[in-house]
Amino acid sequence: MSHAPVFFPPGARIAVLTCEPVGVLDYLAPEDGVRQGQLVLVPLGPRRVLGLVWAEGTGDFDLAKLRAVGRVLDAEPFSPGFLDFLTRAAEYTLTPLPLMLRMATRAPDIDQPPAARRIIVPGSGVIPRVTEARTRVMAVMAEHGGASFAASELAQLAGVGTSVVKGLVGTGTLAEIEAPRDLPYPALDPGRPGKALDGDQQAASDRLRGAVRGGAYGTTLLRGVTGSGKTEVYLEAVAECLAQGRQALVLLPEIALSAEFLDRVEARFGARPGEWHSGITRTERRRLWHMAGRGQVGLVVGARSALFLPFRDLGLIVVDEEHDGSYKQEDVVYYSARDMAVLRASIARAQVVLASATPSLESWANAASGKYARLDLRSRYGEAELPQMAAIDLRAEAMEPGRWISPTLAAAVTARLAKGEQSLIFLNRRGFAPVTVCRACGEQIGCHQCDARMVEHRFQNRLVCHQCGETRPIPLACPSCGVEGKLAPIGPGVERIAEEVAARFPDAKATVLSSDLFHSARALKETIAEISEGDTDIIIGTQIVAKGHNFPRLTLVGVVDADLGLQGADLRAAERSFQLMRQVAGRAGRISGAAPGVALLQTHQPDHAVIRAILSGQDEAFWDAEAAGRQAAGMPPYGRLAGIILSHPDLDVVSDFARHLAGLAAPLAEVGAELWGPAPAPIARVRGRHRMRMLIRAPRQAPLQAAISDWLAGVRLPTNLRLSVDIDPQSFL
Ligand code: ADP
Ligand code: ZN
Repeated sequence: MSHAPVFFPPGARIAVLTCEPVGVLDYLAPEDGVRQGQLVLVPLGPRRVLGLVWAEGTGDFDLAKLRAVGRVLDAEPFSPGFLDFLTRAAEYTLTPLPLMLRMATRAPDIDQPPAARRIIVPGSGVIPRVTEARTRVMAVMAEHGGASFAASELAQLAGVGTSVVKGLVGTGTLAEIEAPRDLPYPALDPGRPGKALDGDQQAASDRLRGAVRGGAYGTTLLRGVTGSGKTEVYLEAVAECLAQGRQALVLLPEIALSAEFLDRVEARFGARPGEWHSGITRTERRRLWHMAGRGQVGLVVGARSALFLPFRDLGLIVVDEEHDGSYKQEDVVYYSARDMAVLRASIARAQVVLASATPSLESWANAASGKYARLDLRSRYGEAELPQMAAIDLRAEAMEPGRWISPTLAAAVTARLAKGEQSLIFLNRRGFAPVTVCRACGEQIGCHQCDARMVEHRFQNRLVCHQCGETRPIPLACPSCGVEGKLAPIGPGVERIAEEVAARFPDAKATVLSSDLFHSARALKETIAEISEGDTDIIIGTQIVAKGHNFPRLTLVGVVDADLGLQGADLRAAERSFQLMRQVAGRAGRISGAAPGVALLQTHQPDHAVIRAILSGQDEAFWDAEAAGRQAAGMPPYGRLAGIILSHPDLDVVSDFARHLAGLAAPLAEVGAELWGPAPAPIARVRGRHRMRMLIRAPRQAPLQAAISDWLAGVRLPTNLRLSVDIDPQSFL
């Protein structure tokens, strides 16, 4: 569908997509004319709003009364392919186009011209008088080599006052200079040699390089256990893409992965890539957005929203850990970055690499049907085997009351301590205890605003709602019956396991890794670095340890509750549990010359199909069985689902409206779709809003989006009622 951008001469009638709910409006092209895809400011009522020159104007609004475009922004025009992507992504996800435009322009001050600004650069580099604050500033400078900061941004990243930075400028350690804004990124050198690849790796690299050279669209599932060299292989595809003069994007599930990753890219290509995630400064965000459009950043490493950067010529998108739930955004715009990557690549004639040790069932099925290519890396690089896996049958263990580490697991930890090796104790539950109950009246302390229990966080000494984030001091007396001293924590969270570890292994150094215990991504990165240097004997962690980090001395993984996640009506409960357990177990490595790592899963159901599949290592058998079950039930990827989420502060308003809406659902039935619900959502209240859900299931080929649009067209929403459509939902809460 590629077409050259159209030029509109001064005074021509043009359609501009505004980022306001009104959407597309007609304007007159400005004095010097304007091209399709250019960003402009247009008058809207008394305001000026951001707009995108969309197409020739079509409205019948009187030409004489049309207002002219205010100003054309100094930014590269969006390519016709990118406009096409935004249109089709909007159609697929049933998102209004103005919201898509907002996603594609999420950079600060893009309406301001590039001007010089004062930034901090290295000076003599020597600190005359070393203080902790100064050292931290220099560490941030070193870590983000090549990035440009204002003094205040640098201070903020380092967690110090601006005066510390100014002080270092005063001593000549740093310098403050006038620099043009939005500098191009240093070029990466694709010609530098990578590591010598082994058989599977070489074959995979050859295939991917060939595909990228071909310059057509294609998606490849790259499968291999953690440590098999998937990153090494897809960096070869990146090298090929850069050699072709095109841009590459690597999506990663979370920031914590990127520190280690950026070093690797630098080692491979001699310079750092552009970074795009919530932890970067406003200056960098703006710079990267502009450079993506101008083709002056070769490789971008980013979180899911990097997919909406206006790349000039994207040749490759890698989605690492493609099964990861964080690729699905469920806020304002509901989209899956993995699926949208495939859409974008198909329009841009780019290649997609989906990398995972435990692919999603969707990707596995697409590879099985031949829609995607599949490449397997069969062994761990330089090693023959995965960790040994075994279940600990909790029914047969002599568990002490108030303790969650079984004697068998404790003995295994003791053995690692004796050898100076690390152990990881895994429990995917933050906080100290999931439930606080009053032993006098039985009351479970809940959130005032949500249908959720408050979780005790002992480090913070507060109760926290994991739905809305509300926190409260832990009360002395029961809020229901008023009796004091009877509130008791029930069940374990990681903090409670940490307490048990401290009691059982008083001489061991233990570290808890849980997202809520770190005030910044930087603090988390530092702790992870300390752990990989071996500064910890026992790691106690939630799922943030499951991903990507290499802990070379780690040889034992103990899963406190492998049953957590097996229950639950969620369609993907088994799949997710399988993936998570697999990923965690994969953390246990082998120290050269020693016995392989061991993963021990504490469970009450050692015969559960998922536990057996994890232990036996027969992934294909697990996926076959899951796929058969989904196919029989007409569930994704063999059928299609869409969720409708309605919320309102008043329960009657939302339930009446939901029933009314369900009564209008004839357009769904016409395409063979079924409607389930409305029913109160499993989380029936969040932040004071009552929530109802409906679920639509349709045959795979049904025109689901069109039917939903028909259904909702012309429906008037009661004031303050929110309605969201979630195509291909991952969460049903
Ligand atoms: P994955 O992405 O599958 O987890 P990685 O690419 O991160 O695997 O590889 C795991 C480790 O093994 C990394 O430290 C990597 O540098 C190293 N490695 C992988 N392949 C090779 C190779 N061919 N030569 C040298 N080191 C390798
Ligand atoms: Zn709450």
